[in-house]
Amino acid sequence: MELRLYDTLAREKRPFQPLDPNRVRMYVCGPTVYDFAHIGNARPAIVFDVLFRLLRHRYGAEHVTYVRNITDVDDKINARAAQEHPSLPLNEAIRLVTEKTERQYHEDVDALGCLRPTIEPRATEFVNRNDTPMDMVRLIGRLIAAQHAYVAEGHVLFDVSSMPDYGKLARRSLDDMIAGARVEVAPYKSNPMDFVLWKPSKPGEPAWPSPWGMGRPGWHVECSAMSAALLGETFDIHGGGIDLVFPHHENEIAQSRCAFDTQVMANYWMHNGFLQAEGEKMSKSLGNFSTIREVLADWQGDVIRLAMLSTHYTKPINWTVKGLEEAEKALASFFDAASAEAEARPAPAVLEALAGKGGVLGIEAAPHTTLTERHPRHSIESCMEHFEHAVKLIGIDHVGFGPDTMFGDHVGLHHAYAALFSLAQVLGGKHYEEVEYVDGLENPADFPNIIRWLVKQKYPDEAIAKVMGGNALRVLKQVWIH
Ligand SMILES: [Zn+2]
Repeated sequence: MELRLYDTLAREKRPFQPLDPNRVRMYVCGPTVYDFAHIGNARPAIVFDVLFRLLRHRYGAEHVTYVRNITDVDDKINARAAQEHPSLPLNEAIRLVTEKTERQYHEDVDALGCLRPTIEPRATEFVNRNDTPMDMVRLIGRLIAAQHAYVAEGHVLFDVSSMPDYGKLARRSLDDMIAGARVEVAPYKSNPMDFVLWKPSKPGEPAWPSPWGMGRPGWHVECSAMSAALLGETFDIHGGGIDLVFPHHENEIAQSRCAFDTQVMANYWMHNGFLQAEGEKMSKSLGNFSTIREVLADWQGDVIRLAMLSTHYTKPINWTVKGLEEAEKALASFFDAASAEAEARPAPAVLEALAGKGGVLGIEAAPHTTLTERHPRHSIESCMEHFEHAVKLIGIDHVGFGPDTMFGDHVGLHHAYAALFSLAQVLGGKHYEEVEYVDGLENPADFPNIIRWLVKQKYPDEAIAKVMGGNALRVLKQVWIH
């Protein structure tokens, strides 16, 4: 059972092999905390939550470390703090803004069913400290010592010409970048593409002591320092939105590899696609910008989660009300099917797919007893295990049932079915092709065995059709026919 991940750096799917299966390490760039998070920021939170769940499932929860940082030093934060708390000293105002925003972000992603990462470091805590293997000031010092960075007018800049394969992640050559550079060229830069590692703070702004004077770090350096401090100089997976490939991740790679003299920073680079609103790129200037909080006011977290996962994570999502409505309908049908009070709803099309000509499931019209005799190898225990994994992976295990109750009565069984269907829709078949390892579904032939188990338990056809209800036929086609 192999997990294969699409690696942005290699531009191909590669089998996932952790450096140490007892300590699988993933870093994902987190939010800059100055305002409610944009709905686009919900996508990496959800996508990498699914991957986190999958890794925990595969390697054991205690063997996976997921770090997602909180950027709490930024010009936008300073501006927001000054605007919201004009009478307070700036640093105090900044603390109020960042703490409030971090709390809001947690409330939002919790509502979307995301597990909290193992560690959520705040950038300001890793600028200058001695009790961790790395911090930003030490990392910058190493780059200067190794002649990958230089000091100019109180700034420290990374010298991109010192790294022969700078641009490899974004597939851009340095010459092309310089030719197309629209960045304002500061007089202290030797090369227009050189980027800031450290800069002087303006009076009143947050500032930390350093060998180059009181100042603050550039944005990119925080992720290099925090990932090294918490995960090591080289780790397994680095994730984030596709918009971070350049310059942020390119620069993270440059800093980390040059500071630690390593061939790679992370072994797999994964990026989720953009979010478009009703076909247009979402932006504040187009006025179609909405926050996670605004979407949560109208839609349940589960609905948003399912809508977000219904598109392959590397592809752009067209974020529409229609998509949310479809996700809501799908979830409603799962929960409806899972309700013990629900009326039996025989679905002839589903029955036909199950037992009819063509035999999607290979069942054909044979008597039930013959079926179970023909395929005796799958035990009830293995079916239970599949269900348990399904609900955990999809992140709806909070609906209130566990493996022990799952098969204890009708209700549990229906819940399990609901979970399995959502899993099939979201992770199964072609939707989640980069994550090929899905326990219980990587071999679609397993599903008929679950049906056969139901048959063996003498559930009437109507009941099976009922739990398969609504979207079942579509799911059957997606999972088995393609
Ligand atoms: Zn980052």
